[in-house]
Amino acid sequence: RQGCVVVTGASSGLGLATAKALAETGKWHVIMACRDFLKAERAAKSAGMAKGSYTVMHLDLASLDSVRQFVESFRRSGRPLDVLVCNAAVYQPTAKEPTFTADGFELSVGTNHLGHFLLSRLLMDDLQKSDYPSKRLIIVGSITGNTNTLAGNVPPKANLGDMRGLAGGLNGLNSSAMIDGGDFDGAKAYKDSKVCNMLTMQEFHRRYHEETGITFASLYPGCIATTGLFREHIPLFRLLFPPFQKYITKGYVSEDEAGKRLAQVAADPSLTKSGVYWSWNKDSASFENQLSQEASDADKARKVWEVSEKLVGLA
Ligand code: NDP
Repeated sequence: RQGCVVVTGASSGLGLATAKALAETGKWHVIMACRDFLKAERAAKSAGMAKGSYTVMHLDLASLDSVRQFVESFRRSGRPLDVLVCNAAVYQPTAKEPTFTADGFELSVGTNHLGHFLLSRLLMDDLQKSDYPSKRLIIVGSITGNTNTLAGNVPPKANLGDMRGLAGGLNGLNSSAMIDGGDFDGAKAYKDSKVCNMLTMQEFHRRYHEETGITFASLYPGCIATTGLFREHIPLFRLLFPPFQKYITKGYVSEDEAGKRLAQVAADPSLTKSGVYWSWNKDSASFENQLSQEASDADKARKVWEVSEKLVGLA
């Protein structure tokens, strides 16, 4: 049968390119889980995705209620869940003050990590029920959360510290809006959220892979300097970042190429290994990359999992 894949944040950039790449094979029905229904419909049409190859469903990761409602609506659709791709993210590099999700969590960690954490925990039941031969849960990571690389060492660096801010609920009132308890920094909050994404993937692998056979993986798709992720950056940055990545660092990839990479991790029969952080070399060949010390720290992964469970109401 045709597989069914849920892709969050499929209304632009990497998510849209991935949705398109998977739908085009004819082997997948793509559920585009998006906060802006009309934008997602228009994006699918202008990307040339065939009617019937996708369904747009509403999901706002910045609201735990919306996450729960999405899971309900997905179940009512009667489709099986074979692959879940957690791709959506916000990045606020120039924000001076924190903003917050519906539940009062700082927006970047609240959306990129906590929203996806609840979503993937709830959908584990559905993944386990599927009879698809290769079930996967993919969480998009980033090099920027990874301090063993050049890009990961551009300040401010990711650092979860002792997680006192996370444990306090990241609300900016009686706790800091930052995971490590420090002063708000939008760029760092994004990087911290990506470290949480990579730690969560590994904790899922440790807790569930053997028992369920589900593949858990993360990836750095390359620098897709043209996506909406950089929409809040200053204009000069947005002008210079794509050519800088293309000609100087040579880390640039097009949205199409990055979409193919994520589609591979989601569906390619050769990438079934679990617990892996995939990257691609200059010839666009995939390899198992190393994570930074913090992003592969098993104690931190367990702590992120346990604290997050409390925050999203699972414990
Ligand atoms: P985009 O900004 O183009 O896409 C982000 C997507 O997330 C959009 O569809 C956006 O929706 C969606 N989104 C944001 N907030 C929410 C929310 N509250 N609920 C639901 N959806 C939401 O950026 P990219 O395509 O670049 O980013 C995709 C992923 O790739 C991210 O995980 C990012 O960290 C990762 N990444 C990107 C790199 C790059 O160089 N661009 C490099 C490494 C990793 P909407 O369309 O409504 O705004």
